[in-house]
Amino acid sequence: MSLFIFCSFIRWKNTQFTVVIDRHLILNTKYQYLSIMLQATKIFHFEMAHAIHDHKGACGNIHGHSYELHVTVTSTVPEDAYITSPGMLIDFKDLKSMVNRAVIEKLDHKIALSRAYLDKGPATSFKNLLQMEVEPSAENLLIYAKKSIEQILPEGINLLALRLFETKDSYAEWVRYPIAGEI
Ligand SMILES: [Zn+2]
Repeated sequence: MSLFIFCSFIRWKNTQFTVVIDRHLILNTKYQYLSIMLQATKIFHFEMAHAIHDHKGACGNIHGHSYELHVTVTSTVPEDAYITSPGMLIDFKDLKSMVNRAVIEKLDHKIALSRAYLDKGPATSFKNLLQMEVEPSAENLLIYAKKSIEQILPEGINLLALRLFETKDSYAEWVRYPIAGEI
């Protein structure tokens, strides 16, 4: 459905709710900007092996990826307001050490396999085995990272988006779409 048709439908319904085009551009029914949020992103790298249980193709074999994880945070600072000293949403150094501890150290150089996969084979002797209840796909790794990072972020800082590159041209993304006025 095109954006024009989608917006027309909303006007016909005469309902005031937010149309999210992407996480940078949020429109209301009058096509005005409601909010453009200040956000900060830190990029992380890790190496991990995995296999997808019952996958019919090559993903069913244990193989490795050089992952790239983009962690984007935002805050409750109002639009266009300067941030008081030290003038940062979050110190990149602090974000780096928090995410390293919560996610990267847990995944880097591990073999991630689901319980379903392990029930089939003798892979449990791996010392660096990370056993997961779900398949260790990029999408599920994002949910794992999201839950881990949200536990360690300081007050007033919210996780806005995660982007995980499995290869240089394939990524999965987790994005929170805020409701206007509730950022
Ligand atoms: Zn893979």
